[in-house]
Amino acid sequence: MTGAGAERPRSWRMFDALPTGVCIATPAGRIVYANRHLHELLGYPYGELEGEDIGLLRGGDGVLPVPGLPLEGRGGRERRYRCRDGEFVWVVEALTDFQGDGGEAYELRTVTDVSHHRRAEAALRDQLMMKDVLFETLPVPVFVKDPDGRFADCNDAFERYTGLPRRAVIEKTSFDVLAPPLANAHAAMDRDLLVNWGQRSYEESVPHADGMPRRARVSKAVYRDNVGEVAGIVGVIHDLSVEDQPNEARLQTILEQSPIGVSVSRREDGVVIFANTRFAELTGFPRERVIGSLARDYYVDDNQRERVIERLRTSGSVVNMEVQFRRADSSSFWTLFTVNQAVIQGVEVNLAWIYDYTERRNMEEALRDMASKDPLTGIYNRRSFMELGRQQLARSQRFREPMSVVVLDVDHFKKINDSYGHATGDDALRMVAGACSSILREYDILGRLGGEEFVVVLPGTTPDESRVVAERLRRHIARMPVPGPEGRFHMTASMGIAGVESAGDTLEKAIHRADLALYRAKREGRNRVVVFESGM
Ligand code: GH3
Ligand code: MG
Ligand code: MG
Repeated sequence: MTGAGAERPRSWRMFDALPTGVCIATPAGRIVYANRHLHELLGYPYGELEGEDIGLLRGGDGVLPVPGLPLEGRGGRERRYRCRDGEFVWVVEALTDFQGDGGEAYELRTVTDVSHHRRAEAALRDQLMMKDVLFETLPVPVFVKDPDGRFADCNDAFERYTGLPRRAVIEKTSFDVLAPPLANAHAAMDRDLLVNWGQRSYEESVPHADGMPRRARVSKAVYRDNVGEVAGIVGVIHDLSVEDQPNEARLQTILEQSPIGVSVSRREDGVVIFANTRFAELTGFPRERVIGSLARDYYVDDNQRERVIERLRTSGSVVNMEVQFRRADSSSFWTLFTVNQAVIQGVEVNLAWIYDYTERRNMEEALRDMASKDPLTGIYNRRSFMELGRQQLARSQRFREPMSVVVLDVDHFKKINDSYGHATGDDALRMVAGACSSILREYDILGRLGGEEFVVVLPGTTPDESRVVAERLRRHIARMPVPGPEGRFHMTASMGIAGVESAGDTLEKAIHRADLALYRAKREGRNRVVVFESGM
């Protein structure tokens, strides 16, 4: 093109073998030679750069400031070169004066591609920046120690947690900042780690800003420099006392094992936000249905619910209240219900404990019954009849109201036993009790005195009025067919009636008078009712 070939001595061809770009230009900046590598670097066909102005290769904005390299002078500098396709490459350019064979003055540039270094460096810078930001913004206390056990760095969270300012720990050992027992433990662990390398977690006491050392899990790891030597220890402090506070996950694992139903509901809107397996079992609702449901919907009785709310409002808790709850199958169960108010993760909640009381309650009822009822007929036994009868007698006397006692004895009962067997006799007794229950009023008191003898207290009833009831009962019993092994048969009963007299009378005395009347009824032929009269 410009006869450059003529200016280019053959000896320059040796530059073509170099793995670095070489460019020879006149002091005015005209390129007289560029080696093969430079052409390849910048994407030009070999030879095309010769005759061009050196300015063609320069990035438009000239030399960029690069830390550590002089901007001016003829030494090395880092700058951008423009490729043929308009892209840029970062190069280190070194400039030397150079004389041609004929003594002409040239400038010789060696051009080394440093783009990948720049890229790696930028990536590293980004990474370091990222790590710095991470280190400082991490809400977890982190520290770095050198291989001699001196603190090399720590983050803000560390300062906040330990109450130790950075300047107070940097370059210091554990012994400088901690009490000897703590420092000894820390140093021993550091030594262990440095000898054995790797990573380790320790439970340690660590200083805390509030002045009391805290139990913490400290995870420490040795890190190494680029030749594999131990460069230091990075430690992360994990406060175990924080872990002791209830968070939902921990609460859940603990409460999951509980044999008592537990639910947590938001106080604000009564929505259940947690329930354990036992709660789901007790209510029969799957847990997914329980969570999000309303606590109020589990109550069977609105009065009980209002009592719970009232108790919570006035005393802040409910302890072992007997409350009935609803099951999924709309049956209900009795519980001992305890509620405490709490704040969990910033939410005001009611923490409820539900102890299934149904079985206990049923058992207690059965025990109460067993103690007070006659097992054969289910009516009051002698003891509880006497107790209830005495109470009624006292009431009647206090209010000057009449009261009668009826004693009933099955006629020839021995024969029933003898003819049809004891089991049939038992059936007959149950039927007599049933007949009495069906004819008497609810507030009459019916008991079995023993054998085939029954007794009734009729409050507010005179002996004559009682006779009417007793006659009805007598007719009913006499008409009642009793199933026996050889077919149905009939039985009769006799009754004696006595009224309660005013002051000084007792239930025992009244029963005795009724017995005398009964005796008269038996003597007069049975299947009859006799009212006591004086002189009997
Ligand atoms: P009377 O008409 O004079 O009353 O004749 P009676 O046979 O009913 O007289 P008594 O009072 O002597 O007989 C009562 C019988 O009741 C005696 C006893 O074997 C029977 N007996 C007592 N308790 C039970 C019981 O729990 N079941 C059965 N099947 N029989 C009982
Ligand atoms: Mg009898
Ligand atoms: Mg008898």
